[in-house]
Amino acid sequence: MTFSPKAIANRIKAKGLQKLRWYCQMCQKQCRDENGFKCHCMSEGHQRQMQIFGQNPTRII
Ligand SMILES: [Zn+2]
Repeated sequence: MTFSPKAIANRIKAKGLQKLRWYCQMCQKQCRDENGFKCHCMSEGHQRQMQIFGQNPTRII
């Protein structure tokens, strides 16, 4: 799964109003609970998304 930073930013804007407690907007991933969310945040896929965002900070907003 690869998305351009711009596409990810657009997805986050589109989903920004959703009231999902354990939802990772960056990865478009819904976790069941806090523990699941923490596990996701330590996952390789999430870390990769973090790096992509870190490289393109001006594109987020
Ligand atoms: Zn994530």
